[in-house]
Amino acid sequence: MHLEGSCHCGAVNFRLESAHPYPFNLCYCTICRKTAGGGGFAINLGGDFGALEVEGEENITVYRAKIEDPETRQVTESPGERRFCRLCGSALWVWDPRWPELVHPFASAIDSELPDPPERTHLMLDFKASWVDARPDPQDKLFPRYPDESIATWHERRGLVR
Ligand SMILES: [Zn+2]
Ligand SMILES: [Zn+2]
Repeated sequence: MHLEGSCHCGAVNFRLESAHPYPFNLCYCTICRKTAGGGGFAINLGGDFGALEVEGEENITVYRAKIEDPETRQVTESPGERRFCRLCGSALWVWDPRWPELVHPFASAIDSELPDPPERTHLMLDFKASWVDARPDPQDKLFPRYPDESIATWHERRGLVR
């Protein structure tokens, strides 16, 4: 599926091909909530990094999150690169050098009509803010930390690859 995206101010526009465009994966972790999730969570889609085309690349800034292990309190810098418009702050996508062929655009930055997911995954619920009401549907899957399948596997298992 072809996806078009942009930041709010229009300084960054991008397009990519996505076989995994269902916005089903709601992440309640502190990074997603603070950087991209005003309602308490952010949603990433799966896309093909090789097919990503960007206009206004000079307006993009990168954030690599410092992550504290909740058990050991050890702080490490995430290898994942979160890209934002440096002018308006819109979250654009995450790219991780561990999976360099993939890119994970934020659903919030996509202008194309996205397909309606038949069920949703709510992840990182251990880190959900108390004011956030997750409201899962009965068919949804809930995970205190990481889910049991990737964005790609979720699509494949349900025959929803585009
Ligand atoms: Zn912008
Ligand atoms: Zn997250």
